Amino acid sequence: MQVFGLVGNPVGHSLSPPMHEAAYDALDIDARYVTFEPAKDEAAAAVRGADALGVAGLNVTIPFKQAVLDAVDPDDLAARIGAVNTVDFGGGRPTGHNTDAEGARRALADAGTDVAGATAVVVGAGGAGRAVTFGLSDAGATVRVANRTESTAHDLADAVPDASGHGLDALPELLADADVLVNATSVGMEEDATPVPADALHGGLTVLDAVYTPLETRLLRDADAAGATTVDGARMLLYQGAAAFERWTGRDAPVETMDAALRARL
Ligand code: NAP
Repeated sequence: MQVFGLVGNPVGHSLSPPMHEAAYDALDIDARYVTFEPAKDEAAAAVRGADALGVAGLNVTIPFKQAVLDAVDPDDLAARIGAVNTVDFGGGRPTGHNTDAEGARRALADAGTDVAGATAVVVGAGGAGRAVTFGLSDAGATVRVANRTESTAHDLADAVPDASGHGLDALPELLADADVLVNATSVGMEEDATPVPADALHGGLTVLDAVYTPLETRLLRDADAAGATTVDGARMLLYQGAAAFERWTGRDAPVETMDAALRARL
């Protein structure tokens, strides 16, 4: 039996175990997906220990996505993002990857939005914002990053070809001719709030909210009312998990089965 898992702190409410185990069941793979909650300064030690124990693959979540860089060889994308959410123990030294970028891109593609040649506005420049910005840029989008702390948006944009950095007050202007909007802040999770003024939204946008609790955020309600195409955060969560599954197993992920397992718990 193979063991996969998630390292984070806390991980008690993670949706990854049912999502991955539904995939193992569907494809008859003899594997389990378990959660590990090491102490906050033990991330790299946890990855090395998992490697020694023969764990086949790990996802990594808050607060360890940066710290595990010390224990893995990151691929080019994860190194640029500066964060790892997937570790592969497939041979030699563990390798580190970031599938949040692919999760956002595939969630948008699934909604009929090809980001190649698109103008995308990413709100947020933390871990998710960095992953989405590099991911969309690599896929051919021109990215405008807006962040509450404007200097962080500039720092990120400086590292990304053709990107620009802004404060949140620039959003109406940035969105006027944009094709894609991604909320990569945590706003909307704790309360019924949105980082984007409703009147800046329009019917030419596809709006992805990385927040998935609740599934229907105020931003997505506003976007729907403005006639935009909406994509919820569970689709991004699904595809980051599917990308990890495919890397570990070499098989196509049964995405609809994984989606159903996820949504049953949201
Ligand atoms: P993070 O690294 O802590 O970054 C948080 C971001 O939110 C920063 O840009 C921060 O701006 C901004 N922010 C926080 N409070 C704000 C406020 N009141 N007003 C405006 N901006 C605010 O967190 P993260 O890891 O990027 O996660 C962000 C969100 O994405 C979370 O809700 C997480 O669950 C979600 N996420 C979803 C997926 C998925 O697969 N669906 C994957 C990854 C993350 P400052 O720089 O100014 O502090």
